[in-house]
Amino acid sequence: MDDNICVNYESCRLVQAADFNLKAEQRSEYLRNYCRAGKDVWLTCTRYFTKSQLNFCPDFVLPDTDATPDEIIARFDADETLS
Ligand code: SF4
Repeated sequence: MDDNICVNYESCRLVQAADFNLKAEQRSEYLRNYCRAGKDVWLTCTRYFTKSQLNFCPDFVLPDTDATPDEIIARFDADETLS
């Protein structure tokens, strides 16, 4: 795959899921500014980092979410409504 495109592109729910809770405009911005912006950029995506650390990434995590994997898993575990 082209290095410009994130290695998670085909499986990432932010990119692929029709039910991902994000306005179309925001989604397009993330695609442009992270997912298709080159390896140097998508390597900085919080969703990429979370997936690499936890082997999954909850929907509340966005590319520019400022949280550690430990904080993310704690929030996920504390709230049964999150997916
Ligand atoms: S949101 Fe992050 S992990 Fe998902 S495809 Fe875009 S850059 Fe990759």
